[in-house]
Amino acid sequence: MDWRKKKARRIAWERIQLLFTLALEEVKKGNVVRVNRYIEHILKLSRKYNIRLPREMKMYICKKCHSFLIPGKTSQVRLKKGKIVIKCLKCGSYKRYIYKK
Ligand SMILES: [Zn+2]
Repeated sequence: MDWRKKKARRIAWERIQLLFTLALEEVKKGNVVRVNRYIEHILKLSRKYNIRLPREMKMYICKKCHSFLIPGKTSQVRLKKGKIVIKCLKCGSYKRYIYKK
């Protein structure tokens, strides 16, 4: 990969982090429309630049309907035998993670 692409990727990654922070801010304000717009943007960048989103980010994004998963609001979180099960209340899909202390 040449340096130009590397640089573009780094910038894209910085943008993703910024967008995620902004999305969290909008979640606090309850601005769902704007939150979803940020999420779409994040996913677009990650696809375009082939950037893998970290687990902490993925846990908040429904892989099916792309809605932002807010525990107790748009998602249901349960701990089950060392696993975290997150259910999206919008489309009903599940996510499972191994729970480590
Ligand atoms: Zn969903």
